[in-house]
Amino acid sequence: MSDDTHVKLLIIGSGPAGYTAAVYGARAMLNPMLIQGMQPGGQLTITTEVENWPGETEIQGPDLMVKMESHARAMGAEVVTDIVTKLDLGRRPFTAECDSGARITADAVILATGAQARWLGLPSEERFKGFGVSACATCDGFFYRGREVLVVGGGNTAVEEALFLTKFASKVTLVHRRDSLRAEKILQNRLFKNPKVEIVWDHELAEVTGTENPLGVSGAVLTSVKDGGTRRIAVDGVFIAIGHAPSSELVKDQLDLHSGGYVKVEAGSTRTSIPGVFAAGDLTDHIYRQAVTSAGMGCMAALDAEAWLAERDEAGEPDPAGAELPEQAPAG
Ligand code: NAP
Repeated sequence: MSDDTHVKLLIIGSGPAGYTAAVYGARAMLNPMLIQGMQPGGQLTITTEVENWPGETEIQGPDLMVKMESHARAMGAEVVTDIVTKLDLGRRPFTAECDSGARITADAVILATGAQARWLGLPSEERFKGFGVSACATCDGFFYRGREVLVVGGGNTAVEEALFLTKFASKVTLVHRRDSLRAEKILQNRLFKNPKVEIVWDHELAEVTGTENPLGVSGAVLTSVKDGGTRRIAVDGVFIAIGHAPSSELVKDQLDLHSGGYVKVEAGSTRTSIPGVFAAGDLTDHIYRQAVTSAGMGCMAALDAEAWLAERDEAGEPDPAGAELPEQAPAG
């Protein structure tokens, strides 16, 4: 790729939303370029079995993402391994600067940067991150063969991580701040049946404890949300699985956002507060957050971008390059 490229449609992000937008964008002859970002393939590359992708009773997350990437390429999308470090949506054409030094200008942009794991924010969590504290069981579970681990959270991610860890660990303790899980019932049933799993209800992780030299986790302090009582348990690893936050860093000062940082889109569309900029997937969806809904939104974003570009071209007045954008009405 040259250091200065102009494209009609730039897609940022390579999860189900990004790749689906690329498939539709390519089929609409928009010659899309997709920049993969820090984690090519997105969150599904750090999961294991996916059992709710229609047409696949069971498929490994990373395999599904390889298939999506191949599909996007086969349709004609240009898939680039790079990271967008700066995005200027204040002038048209929009400009993206990449980690490699490449600079891309685009008539329309689809944002599909997804979400990333949330942390509790405890000083001890920060202290032991990468040394016994993790947010990715599929990445780090292997290190806990025959050892005891703790998982924090009560959603699908926490239950899936706990079940995955039972393949290696001798015991998995799941700590949840309430007395019921929000994970799907099928996952809950698997968890309750697993003899390696113990659930500590109505407790929060207060502190991770461990050794300084070598740096490593040896235990956790849990606090009861009912009576404030504390209990200590011995564990070798702590997995935080308390949900995700949208990756809206690139656009947080340029687009209208919901509280929590999700990009606002007009109801029933993927249009953001700047015409020509569209958002799809976990970056904008704080309700469903499924691979299949992200893919659906990726499709919508490509169709919305195609319609917007066509309208602009029909009007015969493409925005002059480098024109300042007028004030926009807020989205949503
Ligand atoms: P989630 O559904 O938002 O669940 C987060 C969990 O962490 C909740 O149980 C929450 O407790 C707990 N939590 C949040 N903040 C906490 C804190 N400060 N201290 C202690 N606990 C805290 O997140 P997720 O499990 O990552 O799932 C995200 C989305 O992806 C969901 O829509 C999920 O369905 C989807 N997903 C789907 C699959 C699948 O279909 N197989 C797999 C993974 C994820 P409360 O329950 O008390 O709020």
